[in-house]
Amino acid sequence: MIAPGSTIGIVGGGQLGRMLALAAAQLGYECHVYAPDAESVAAQVSARFTQGAFDDEAALARFAAEVDVATYEFENIPTAPLRAMAGIVPLHPPVEALETAQDRLEEKGFIQSLGGRPAPYAGIDDLAGLEAALAGIGAPSILKTRRFGYDGKGQVRIEAPDEAAAAWDAVRGQPSVLEGFIAFDAEFSILLCRAADGEIVFWDSPRNRHEGGILVASSVPAGPGLGKAIAEGRALADRIAETLDHVGVMAVEFFAVGGEAIFNEMAPRVHNSGHWTIEGARTSQFENHVRAICGLPLGATGLASPRIEMTNLVGAEAGGWREILADPAAHLHLYGKADARPGRKMGHVTRLLND
Ligand code: AMP
Repeated sequence: MIAPGSTIGIVGGGQLGRMLALAAAQLGYECHVYAPDAESVAAQVSARFTQGAFDDEAALARFAAEVDVATYEFENIPTAPLRAMAGIVPLHPPVEALETAQDRLEEKGFIQSLGGRPAPYAGIDDLAGLEAALAGIGAPSILKTRRFGYDGKGQVRIEAPDEAAAAWDAVRGQPSVLEGFIAFDAEFSILLCRAADGEIVFWDSPRNRHEGGILVASSVPAGPGLGKAIAEGRALADRIAETLDHVGVMAVEFFAVGGEAIFNEMAPRVHNSGHWTIEGARTSQFENHVRAICGLPLGATGLASPRIEMTNLVGAEAGGWREILADPAAHLHLYGKADARPGRKMGHVTRLLND
């Protein structure tokens, strides 16, 4: 067990790390953030900060030697230096989970091996391959780079087969996956936390709404008609966590179609669709992640209110903080980012509702 008073190392310096560090502080831990940019919103609320590149194995090894346990809050980190870190200090979640999630093609194959159902897909390495795959999967479909995509980046929608060349240019010829477009009834995510002893807790599943590939809002409960799909999603997420021997929070995103759960993607970390748990659940995803990686008992995940709405504040929307503060149901979170660029997640607001 890593007792309160110890130091947690967080690789990655964004808002997920910031909220993890705040939860860790509440439990009496200190956090040491490692991130490449001089400005880190996680470092703003942490005891220590090391600026370093994610591929600087020597610097990450020094960092590992200075903390008692380590985790990561960002997915696009090379896994070799993380593997080396794991030889120096306990590192959770396991690097295998990150490796699986980093490559959309491998991720889908892994999910199928566990009996899960992704959208129809094909791996794409060149334009001829894309044209052939489009003939099979059809349009509309979505071309996604295998690696380094997030918040809708590295994705292009294909409405008709004659758009293949333009789409291939748009992903700059990177190895990709073509996915059939799913006319879903709703999107939801499974949020779980697994302890080192194998105990798994789930939070209620939020219904998620995306625009332009970015999460706009999460609502709990997810609403009528999703129970069967959520149960299927839970069973799959449970198998994923067990198979990877995952420790910490994991989120798995799904499309609900006619009562079935179509796998979209998994994240071996705390997740935007779980931000509502800070005020909306007995124990937040951030606190339970800290508890799991430190070997503490996991906290209860029940709802703190009959209905919870989380809305992201993207770009200039964060400027509306005065009105949000005037709403007694609203809990405002601003991430301390200086530059409100369009499409950038600047904060979120969670409303606890009784109706
Ligand atoms: P992703 O980054 O892959 O999770 O995609 C972001 C969002 O784009 C998803 O949450 C969906 O709203 C939409 N999307 C992605 N892939 C598909 C698909 N195959 N069919 C329908 N919508 C999709």
